[in-house]
Amino acid sequence: MSELIAFIGVGNMGNPMAENLMKAGKKVKVFDVSKKMVEKAKEKKLDVVENLDALITNDVTTVITMLPEGKNSKEVYLGDNGIINKVSKNCLLIDCSTIDIQTSIEIGKNATEKGIKMIDAPVSGGVMGAQKATLNIMVGGTKEAFDLALPLLKIMGKNIFHAGELGSGNGAKICNNMSLGITMIAASESLMLAKRLNIDIKKVHEIMKNASGNSWPISVYPPLPGLIEGTPSNNNYRPGFSAGMMNKDLKLANECAKQAKASTPLGSMALEIYNKFCEEGNDTKDFSAISKVVGGDAWNYPID
Ligand code: NAD
Repeated sequence: MSELIAFIGVGNMGNPMAENLMKAGKKVKVFDVSKKMVEKAKEKKLDVVENLDALITNDVTTVITMLPEGKNSKEVYLGDNGIINKVSKNCLLIDCSTIDIQTSIEIGKNATEKGIKMIDAPVSGGVMGAQKATLNIMVGGTKEAFDLALPLLKIMGKNIFHAGELGSGNGAKICNNMSLGITMIAASESLMLAKRLNIDIKKVHEIMKNASGNSWPISVYPPLPGLIEGTPSNNNYRPGFSAGMMNKDLKLANECAKQAKASTPLGSMALEIYNKFCEEGNDTKDFSAISKVVGGDAWNYPID
């Protein structure tokens, strides 16, 4: 049977990931509930279908989902119109969404009971990583399912890791994003302190990039404009990766820490800071806009 990929959720990340599969010569059909995202997918010449029934036909060999939260993945896979009851047994399911470990395991178990192979495969690297196909992809599932998914994952990403059994991909991703949330606040604090000290931010940024204060927010995704081309801070803080998504990931990390009895004081503090920022109506801004909170009255950059 020839390969046919059904891609669900073509938002900020799913759109370029599906596009890369199409550009690699794969046959891809996509579906999204958002009219805006459907229009963007059409602009990329992706083959958009109207609903899940039109998407999940008998000849689909792989389903890839890139959805916001666990409740969305649960609805799409296990809901009334859930695709677990629609796909053939030979179809491979790949959930790239960042969701809680329990939901990931629950969906995977339901699939396995029906003889369907599934992996959780959340990603890191941001929209730029998705566009350039340089994502880090963290996979949970059997080695057999991992090997089956690998050729497709290699089209969308650069470093593909087998983290362990089902749910481990999300576990690894949650650990990663707790550090990302913390370091984005740390990078904001350093750069805004430099500003208040009247030291050229560009110079401090260049120094930190090469010195021991470097981090992904400093070297790839700085929270202030004028430092690296193509970043959300240079585009009025349009996402990118929204503050709401970061807040979700920090909540997931906090819940995991409670369950595992792990001490994560900075993770808890980062959650508090992002939670407040979102409650004040900033959840759709890029997560690097947290520099606004840190910067106080010294922060004066364009923001939509
Ligand atoms: P997004 O909100 O831009 O995209 C999600 C898409 O899913 C939206 O277009 C939405 O309409 C669609 N959707 C929701 N429910 C649906 C349903 N039932 N059926 C079909 N479509 C549905 O989010 P994003 O930034 O692309 O992030 C997606 C996932 O990737 C999240 O879990 C996020 O945490 C993770 N992630 C994001 C980034 C990033 O930089 N944006 C980086 C790494 C991981």
